[in-house]
Amino acid sequence: MKHPLCVISRVLNRFAGRARRAVRSGRPGSIRESRLFRIIKLPALVLCLLLVFSFALAEEEDDLIIEEIIENVDLDAPGDGSVSWDFPLPLEDIDPEYVRLANKHYLLDSAYVPDNLVKVPRQPKNGGISWVSWPEAGHRLQEVAAQALCDMNAAMREVDGFKTMYLKSAYRSYSTQKTMYRNRLAKNNGRDDGWVSMPGASDHQTGLGCDVVPSNWKDRGMNDQMMREPECQWMAEHCHEYGFIVRYPEDKQDITEINTEPWHLRYVGVPVATYIMENGLCLEEFTFQLQEAIADFIARGGDPAAVAAYIQTPTDE
Ligand SMILES: [Zn+2]
Repeated sequence: MKHPLCVISRVLNRFAGRARRAVRSGRPGSIRESRLFRIIKLPALVLCLLLVFSFALAEEEDDLIIEEIIENVDLDAPGDGSVSWDFPLPLEDIDPEYVRLANKHYLLDSAYVPDNLVKVPRQPKNGGISWVSWPEAGHRLQEVAAQALCDMNAAMREVDGFKTMYLKSAYRSYSTQKTMYRNRLAKNNGRDDGWVSMPGASDHQTGLGCDVVPSNWKDRGMNDQMMREPECQWMAEHCHEYGFIVRYPEDKQDITEINTEPWHLRYVGVPVATYIMENGLCLEEFTFQLQEAIADFIARGGDPAAVAAYIQTPTDE
């Protein structure tokens, strides 16, 4: 679409050109046109300048994206305590650590290791969850996520009569992910097929993401057919009650840029998981909403220090 400003300036130019030609030709009719041109020249110029300014301002506002508002803010500036936090979830219900986003646009640092990793208990009879394999360091998660996973498995077994679930993969370090990614590329002639995240982009590096499979899938290759299993349907429906979300839903593949994974759960805390589920979001969409709310809060004069811990900015810009 043509910018309205271009159209207006073209019309004015054409008119001015015609008037100038008329003055040069000296025809009687032309003199009238040239006088008319002189009369309207100044208002037209003023109008044109006003239009230029208004369009420039409008453009600037459009370009004032969340990241710019957030990056340009002085976090030490005193805020106005009377500004309200206008987001459906209060800040106390959101733990910045639990909503940390990891994807190819929000890469985790190679040195990032969660500081409260624990081994996930592996005896279902004692409140744990079965493991598919025994990696050297064991399957580890941040403590809160490990407990929530065990609680969820206990509920599935005791309340809903399922067999124990199997934990296939939990925390993965940056270097483990690097090896996995390199191997996957080698297997696919250098092509990224969307099954293994690049180092720094893996949800597993947060220590809050884990792959959980039904017992009849523990020895099978993972594919999206798993979502037909009643255990996976149960997880999709109930995991938020334990603080988890299904991190890569089928209808969000274009946003997560990851193939659907009915087995990959991500701990975000109960209030956030419930909000995400009730609003049909994925973590990327939640993050965007939250960052928008932060930018809006600061723009209205809210205390930047109150929201500083929640700010996340893309690593690829
Ligand atoms: Zn996974």
